[in-house]
Amino acid sequence: MSHIFPRHTRQLPPMAVSGQGCYLIDETGKQYLDASGGAAVSCLGHGDREVIEAVKGQLDQLAFAHTGFFTSKPAEDLADILIANAPAGLDRVYLVSGGSEATEAAIKLARQYWVEKGEPQRGRVIARKQSYHGNTIGALSAGGNEWRRAQFGPLLLDMSHIDPCYEYRLRQPGESAEEYGRRAADALEAELLRVGPETVMAFMAEPVVGATAGALTPAPGYFKRIREICDRYGVLLILDEVMCGMGRTGTLFACEQDGVAPDIACIAKGLGAGYQPIGAMLCSSEIYDALINGSGFFQHGHTYMGHPAAAAAGRAVVGAILGRDLLPRVKTQGEALAARLADRFGQHAHVGDLRGRGLFRGIELVEDRETKAPFDPSKGLAGKIKKAAFEAGLICYPMSGTIDGRQGDHVLLAPPFIIEDTQLDELVDKLDGAISKALAAA
Ligand code: PMP
Repeated sequence: MSHIFPRHTRQLPPMAVSGQGCYLIDETGKQYLDASGGAAVSCLGHGDREVIEAVKGQLDQLAFAHTGFFTSKPAEDLADILIANAPAGLDRVYLVSGGSEATEAAIKLARQYWVEKGEPQRGRVIARKQSYHGNTIGALSAGGNEWRRAQFGPLLLDMSHIDPCYEYRLRQPGESAEEYGRRAADALEAELLRVGPETVMAFMAEPVVGATAGALTPAPGYFKRIREICDRYGVLLILDEVMCGMGRTGTLFACEQDGVAPDIACIAKGLGAGYQPIGAMLCSSEIYDALINGSGFFQHGHTYMGHPAAAAAGRAVVGAILGRDLLPRVKTQGEALAARLADRFGQHAHVGDLRGRGLFRGIELVEDRETKAPFDPSKGLAGKIKKAAFEAGLICYPMSGTIDGRQGDHVLLAPPFIIEDTQLDELVDKLDGAISKALAAA
């Protein structure tokens, strides 16, 4: 009997035994094209020798030194390369072990900042519906995904959730994309005025929404307007780039394409690229100095933060993304994938929307293209697509997102940056087959 607590099923899933390039292989020898990197993790693909050697070398040199006593060369090097390539104004790096630790730290950092600044009444976070920021209590409270929150209501913190920027469903007929972007962002101001801006510490959002909405890109001007509103009311802007950051959309940070810089940014997933568990929170000197000149330190921390082997992996991954010119490749291969998806699914009776940036793409499925009516959640379409794709040897990331009780099924694609054209063909063929099979069974 296995003693593992399986993640989503009663049954134990197949045993993965190796990975090479864009493929994972199980114990029976079956190959799976990894078109989602689990969930946007494996940006360099599997078996990257340079990253593996960096981790091995670091373990030989120094495996662990507690950050309460020491800094380490890989942690310093990783912080340097991140700051050298981060949006303007981000100057400090706080290394953690994953995405939820990064977002949780961001929430606590924002809170401590306001306490140090003498505004302890600022205790509220405003976030968005249909978002995901992690599974720890603070991060889950900020997330607006009803399904993930459902059983934990009494444990969650009181936060506000405004509508996401969701052109496909929320843009009005006759409204331009820019007008919609402005209106969607103005929901933040309305909520600030409703709750009292002096009680709000931060607004938190994913620049391109991943797990809960399927590569949902913001309307033009949305984040610029959000930044203006945050500045007007002195509210910190936290951008959660755990999924969309580290080159996934074609720039190291997704927000670069929206022309905004946050006060705090969270990254993870692609930072370790699957070679080590690592995440990071980046913040401005203004925030850091307020803590250092106040209490003298951030009242937070985890035993494994800044782990040298994880930092060495992160440094090697960021070095590879930048040094191997993978960002332009994400753009070209992203466009190649988008073109194939448009070709195959553009006229599909049950595909309502195709969206995304770079190698971060989403397909929203609908029962009826005209009315945009989603499938009845009881049909479990996303789960059926995941199963059919997996059987066919394709790993993709289907999910259901809920907004105001309306459920939509979507598929998220986030293949490795090294994906070749023939593998894009294989991806689209297998996905098409899986969607057809799932629709026939739904
Ligand atoms: N934020 C976002 C945007 C995410 O997509 C995720 C993971 N799906 C997290 C936070 C949480 O990261 P982790 O699973 O590493 O805790």
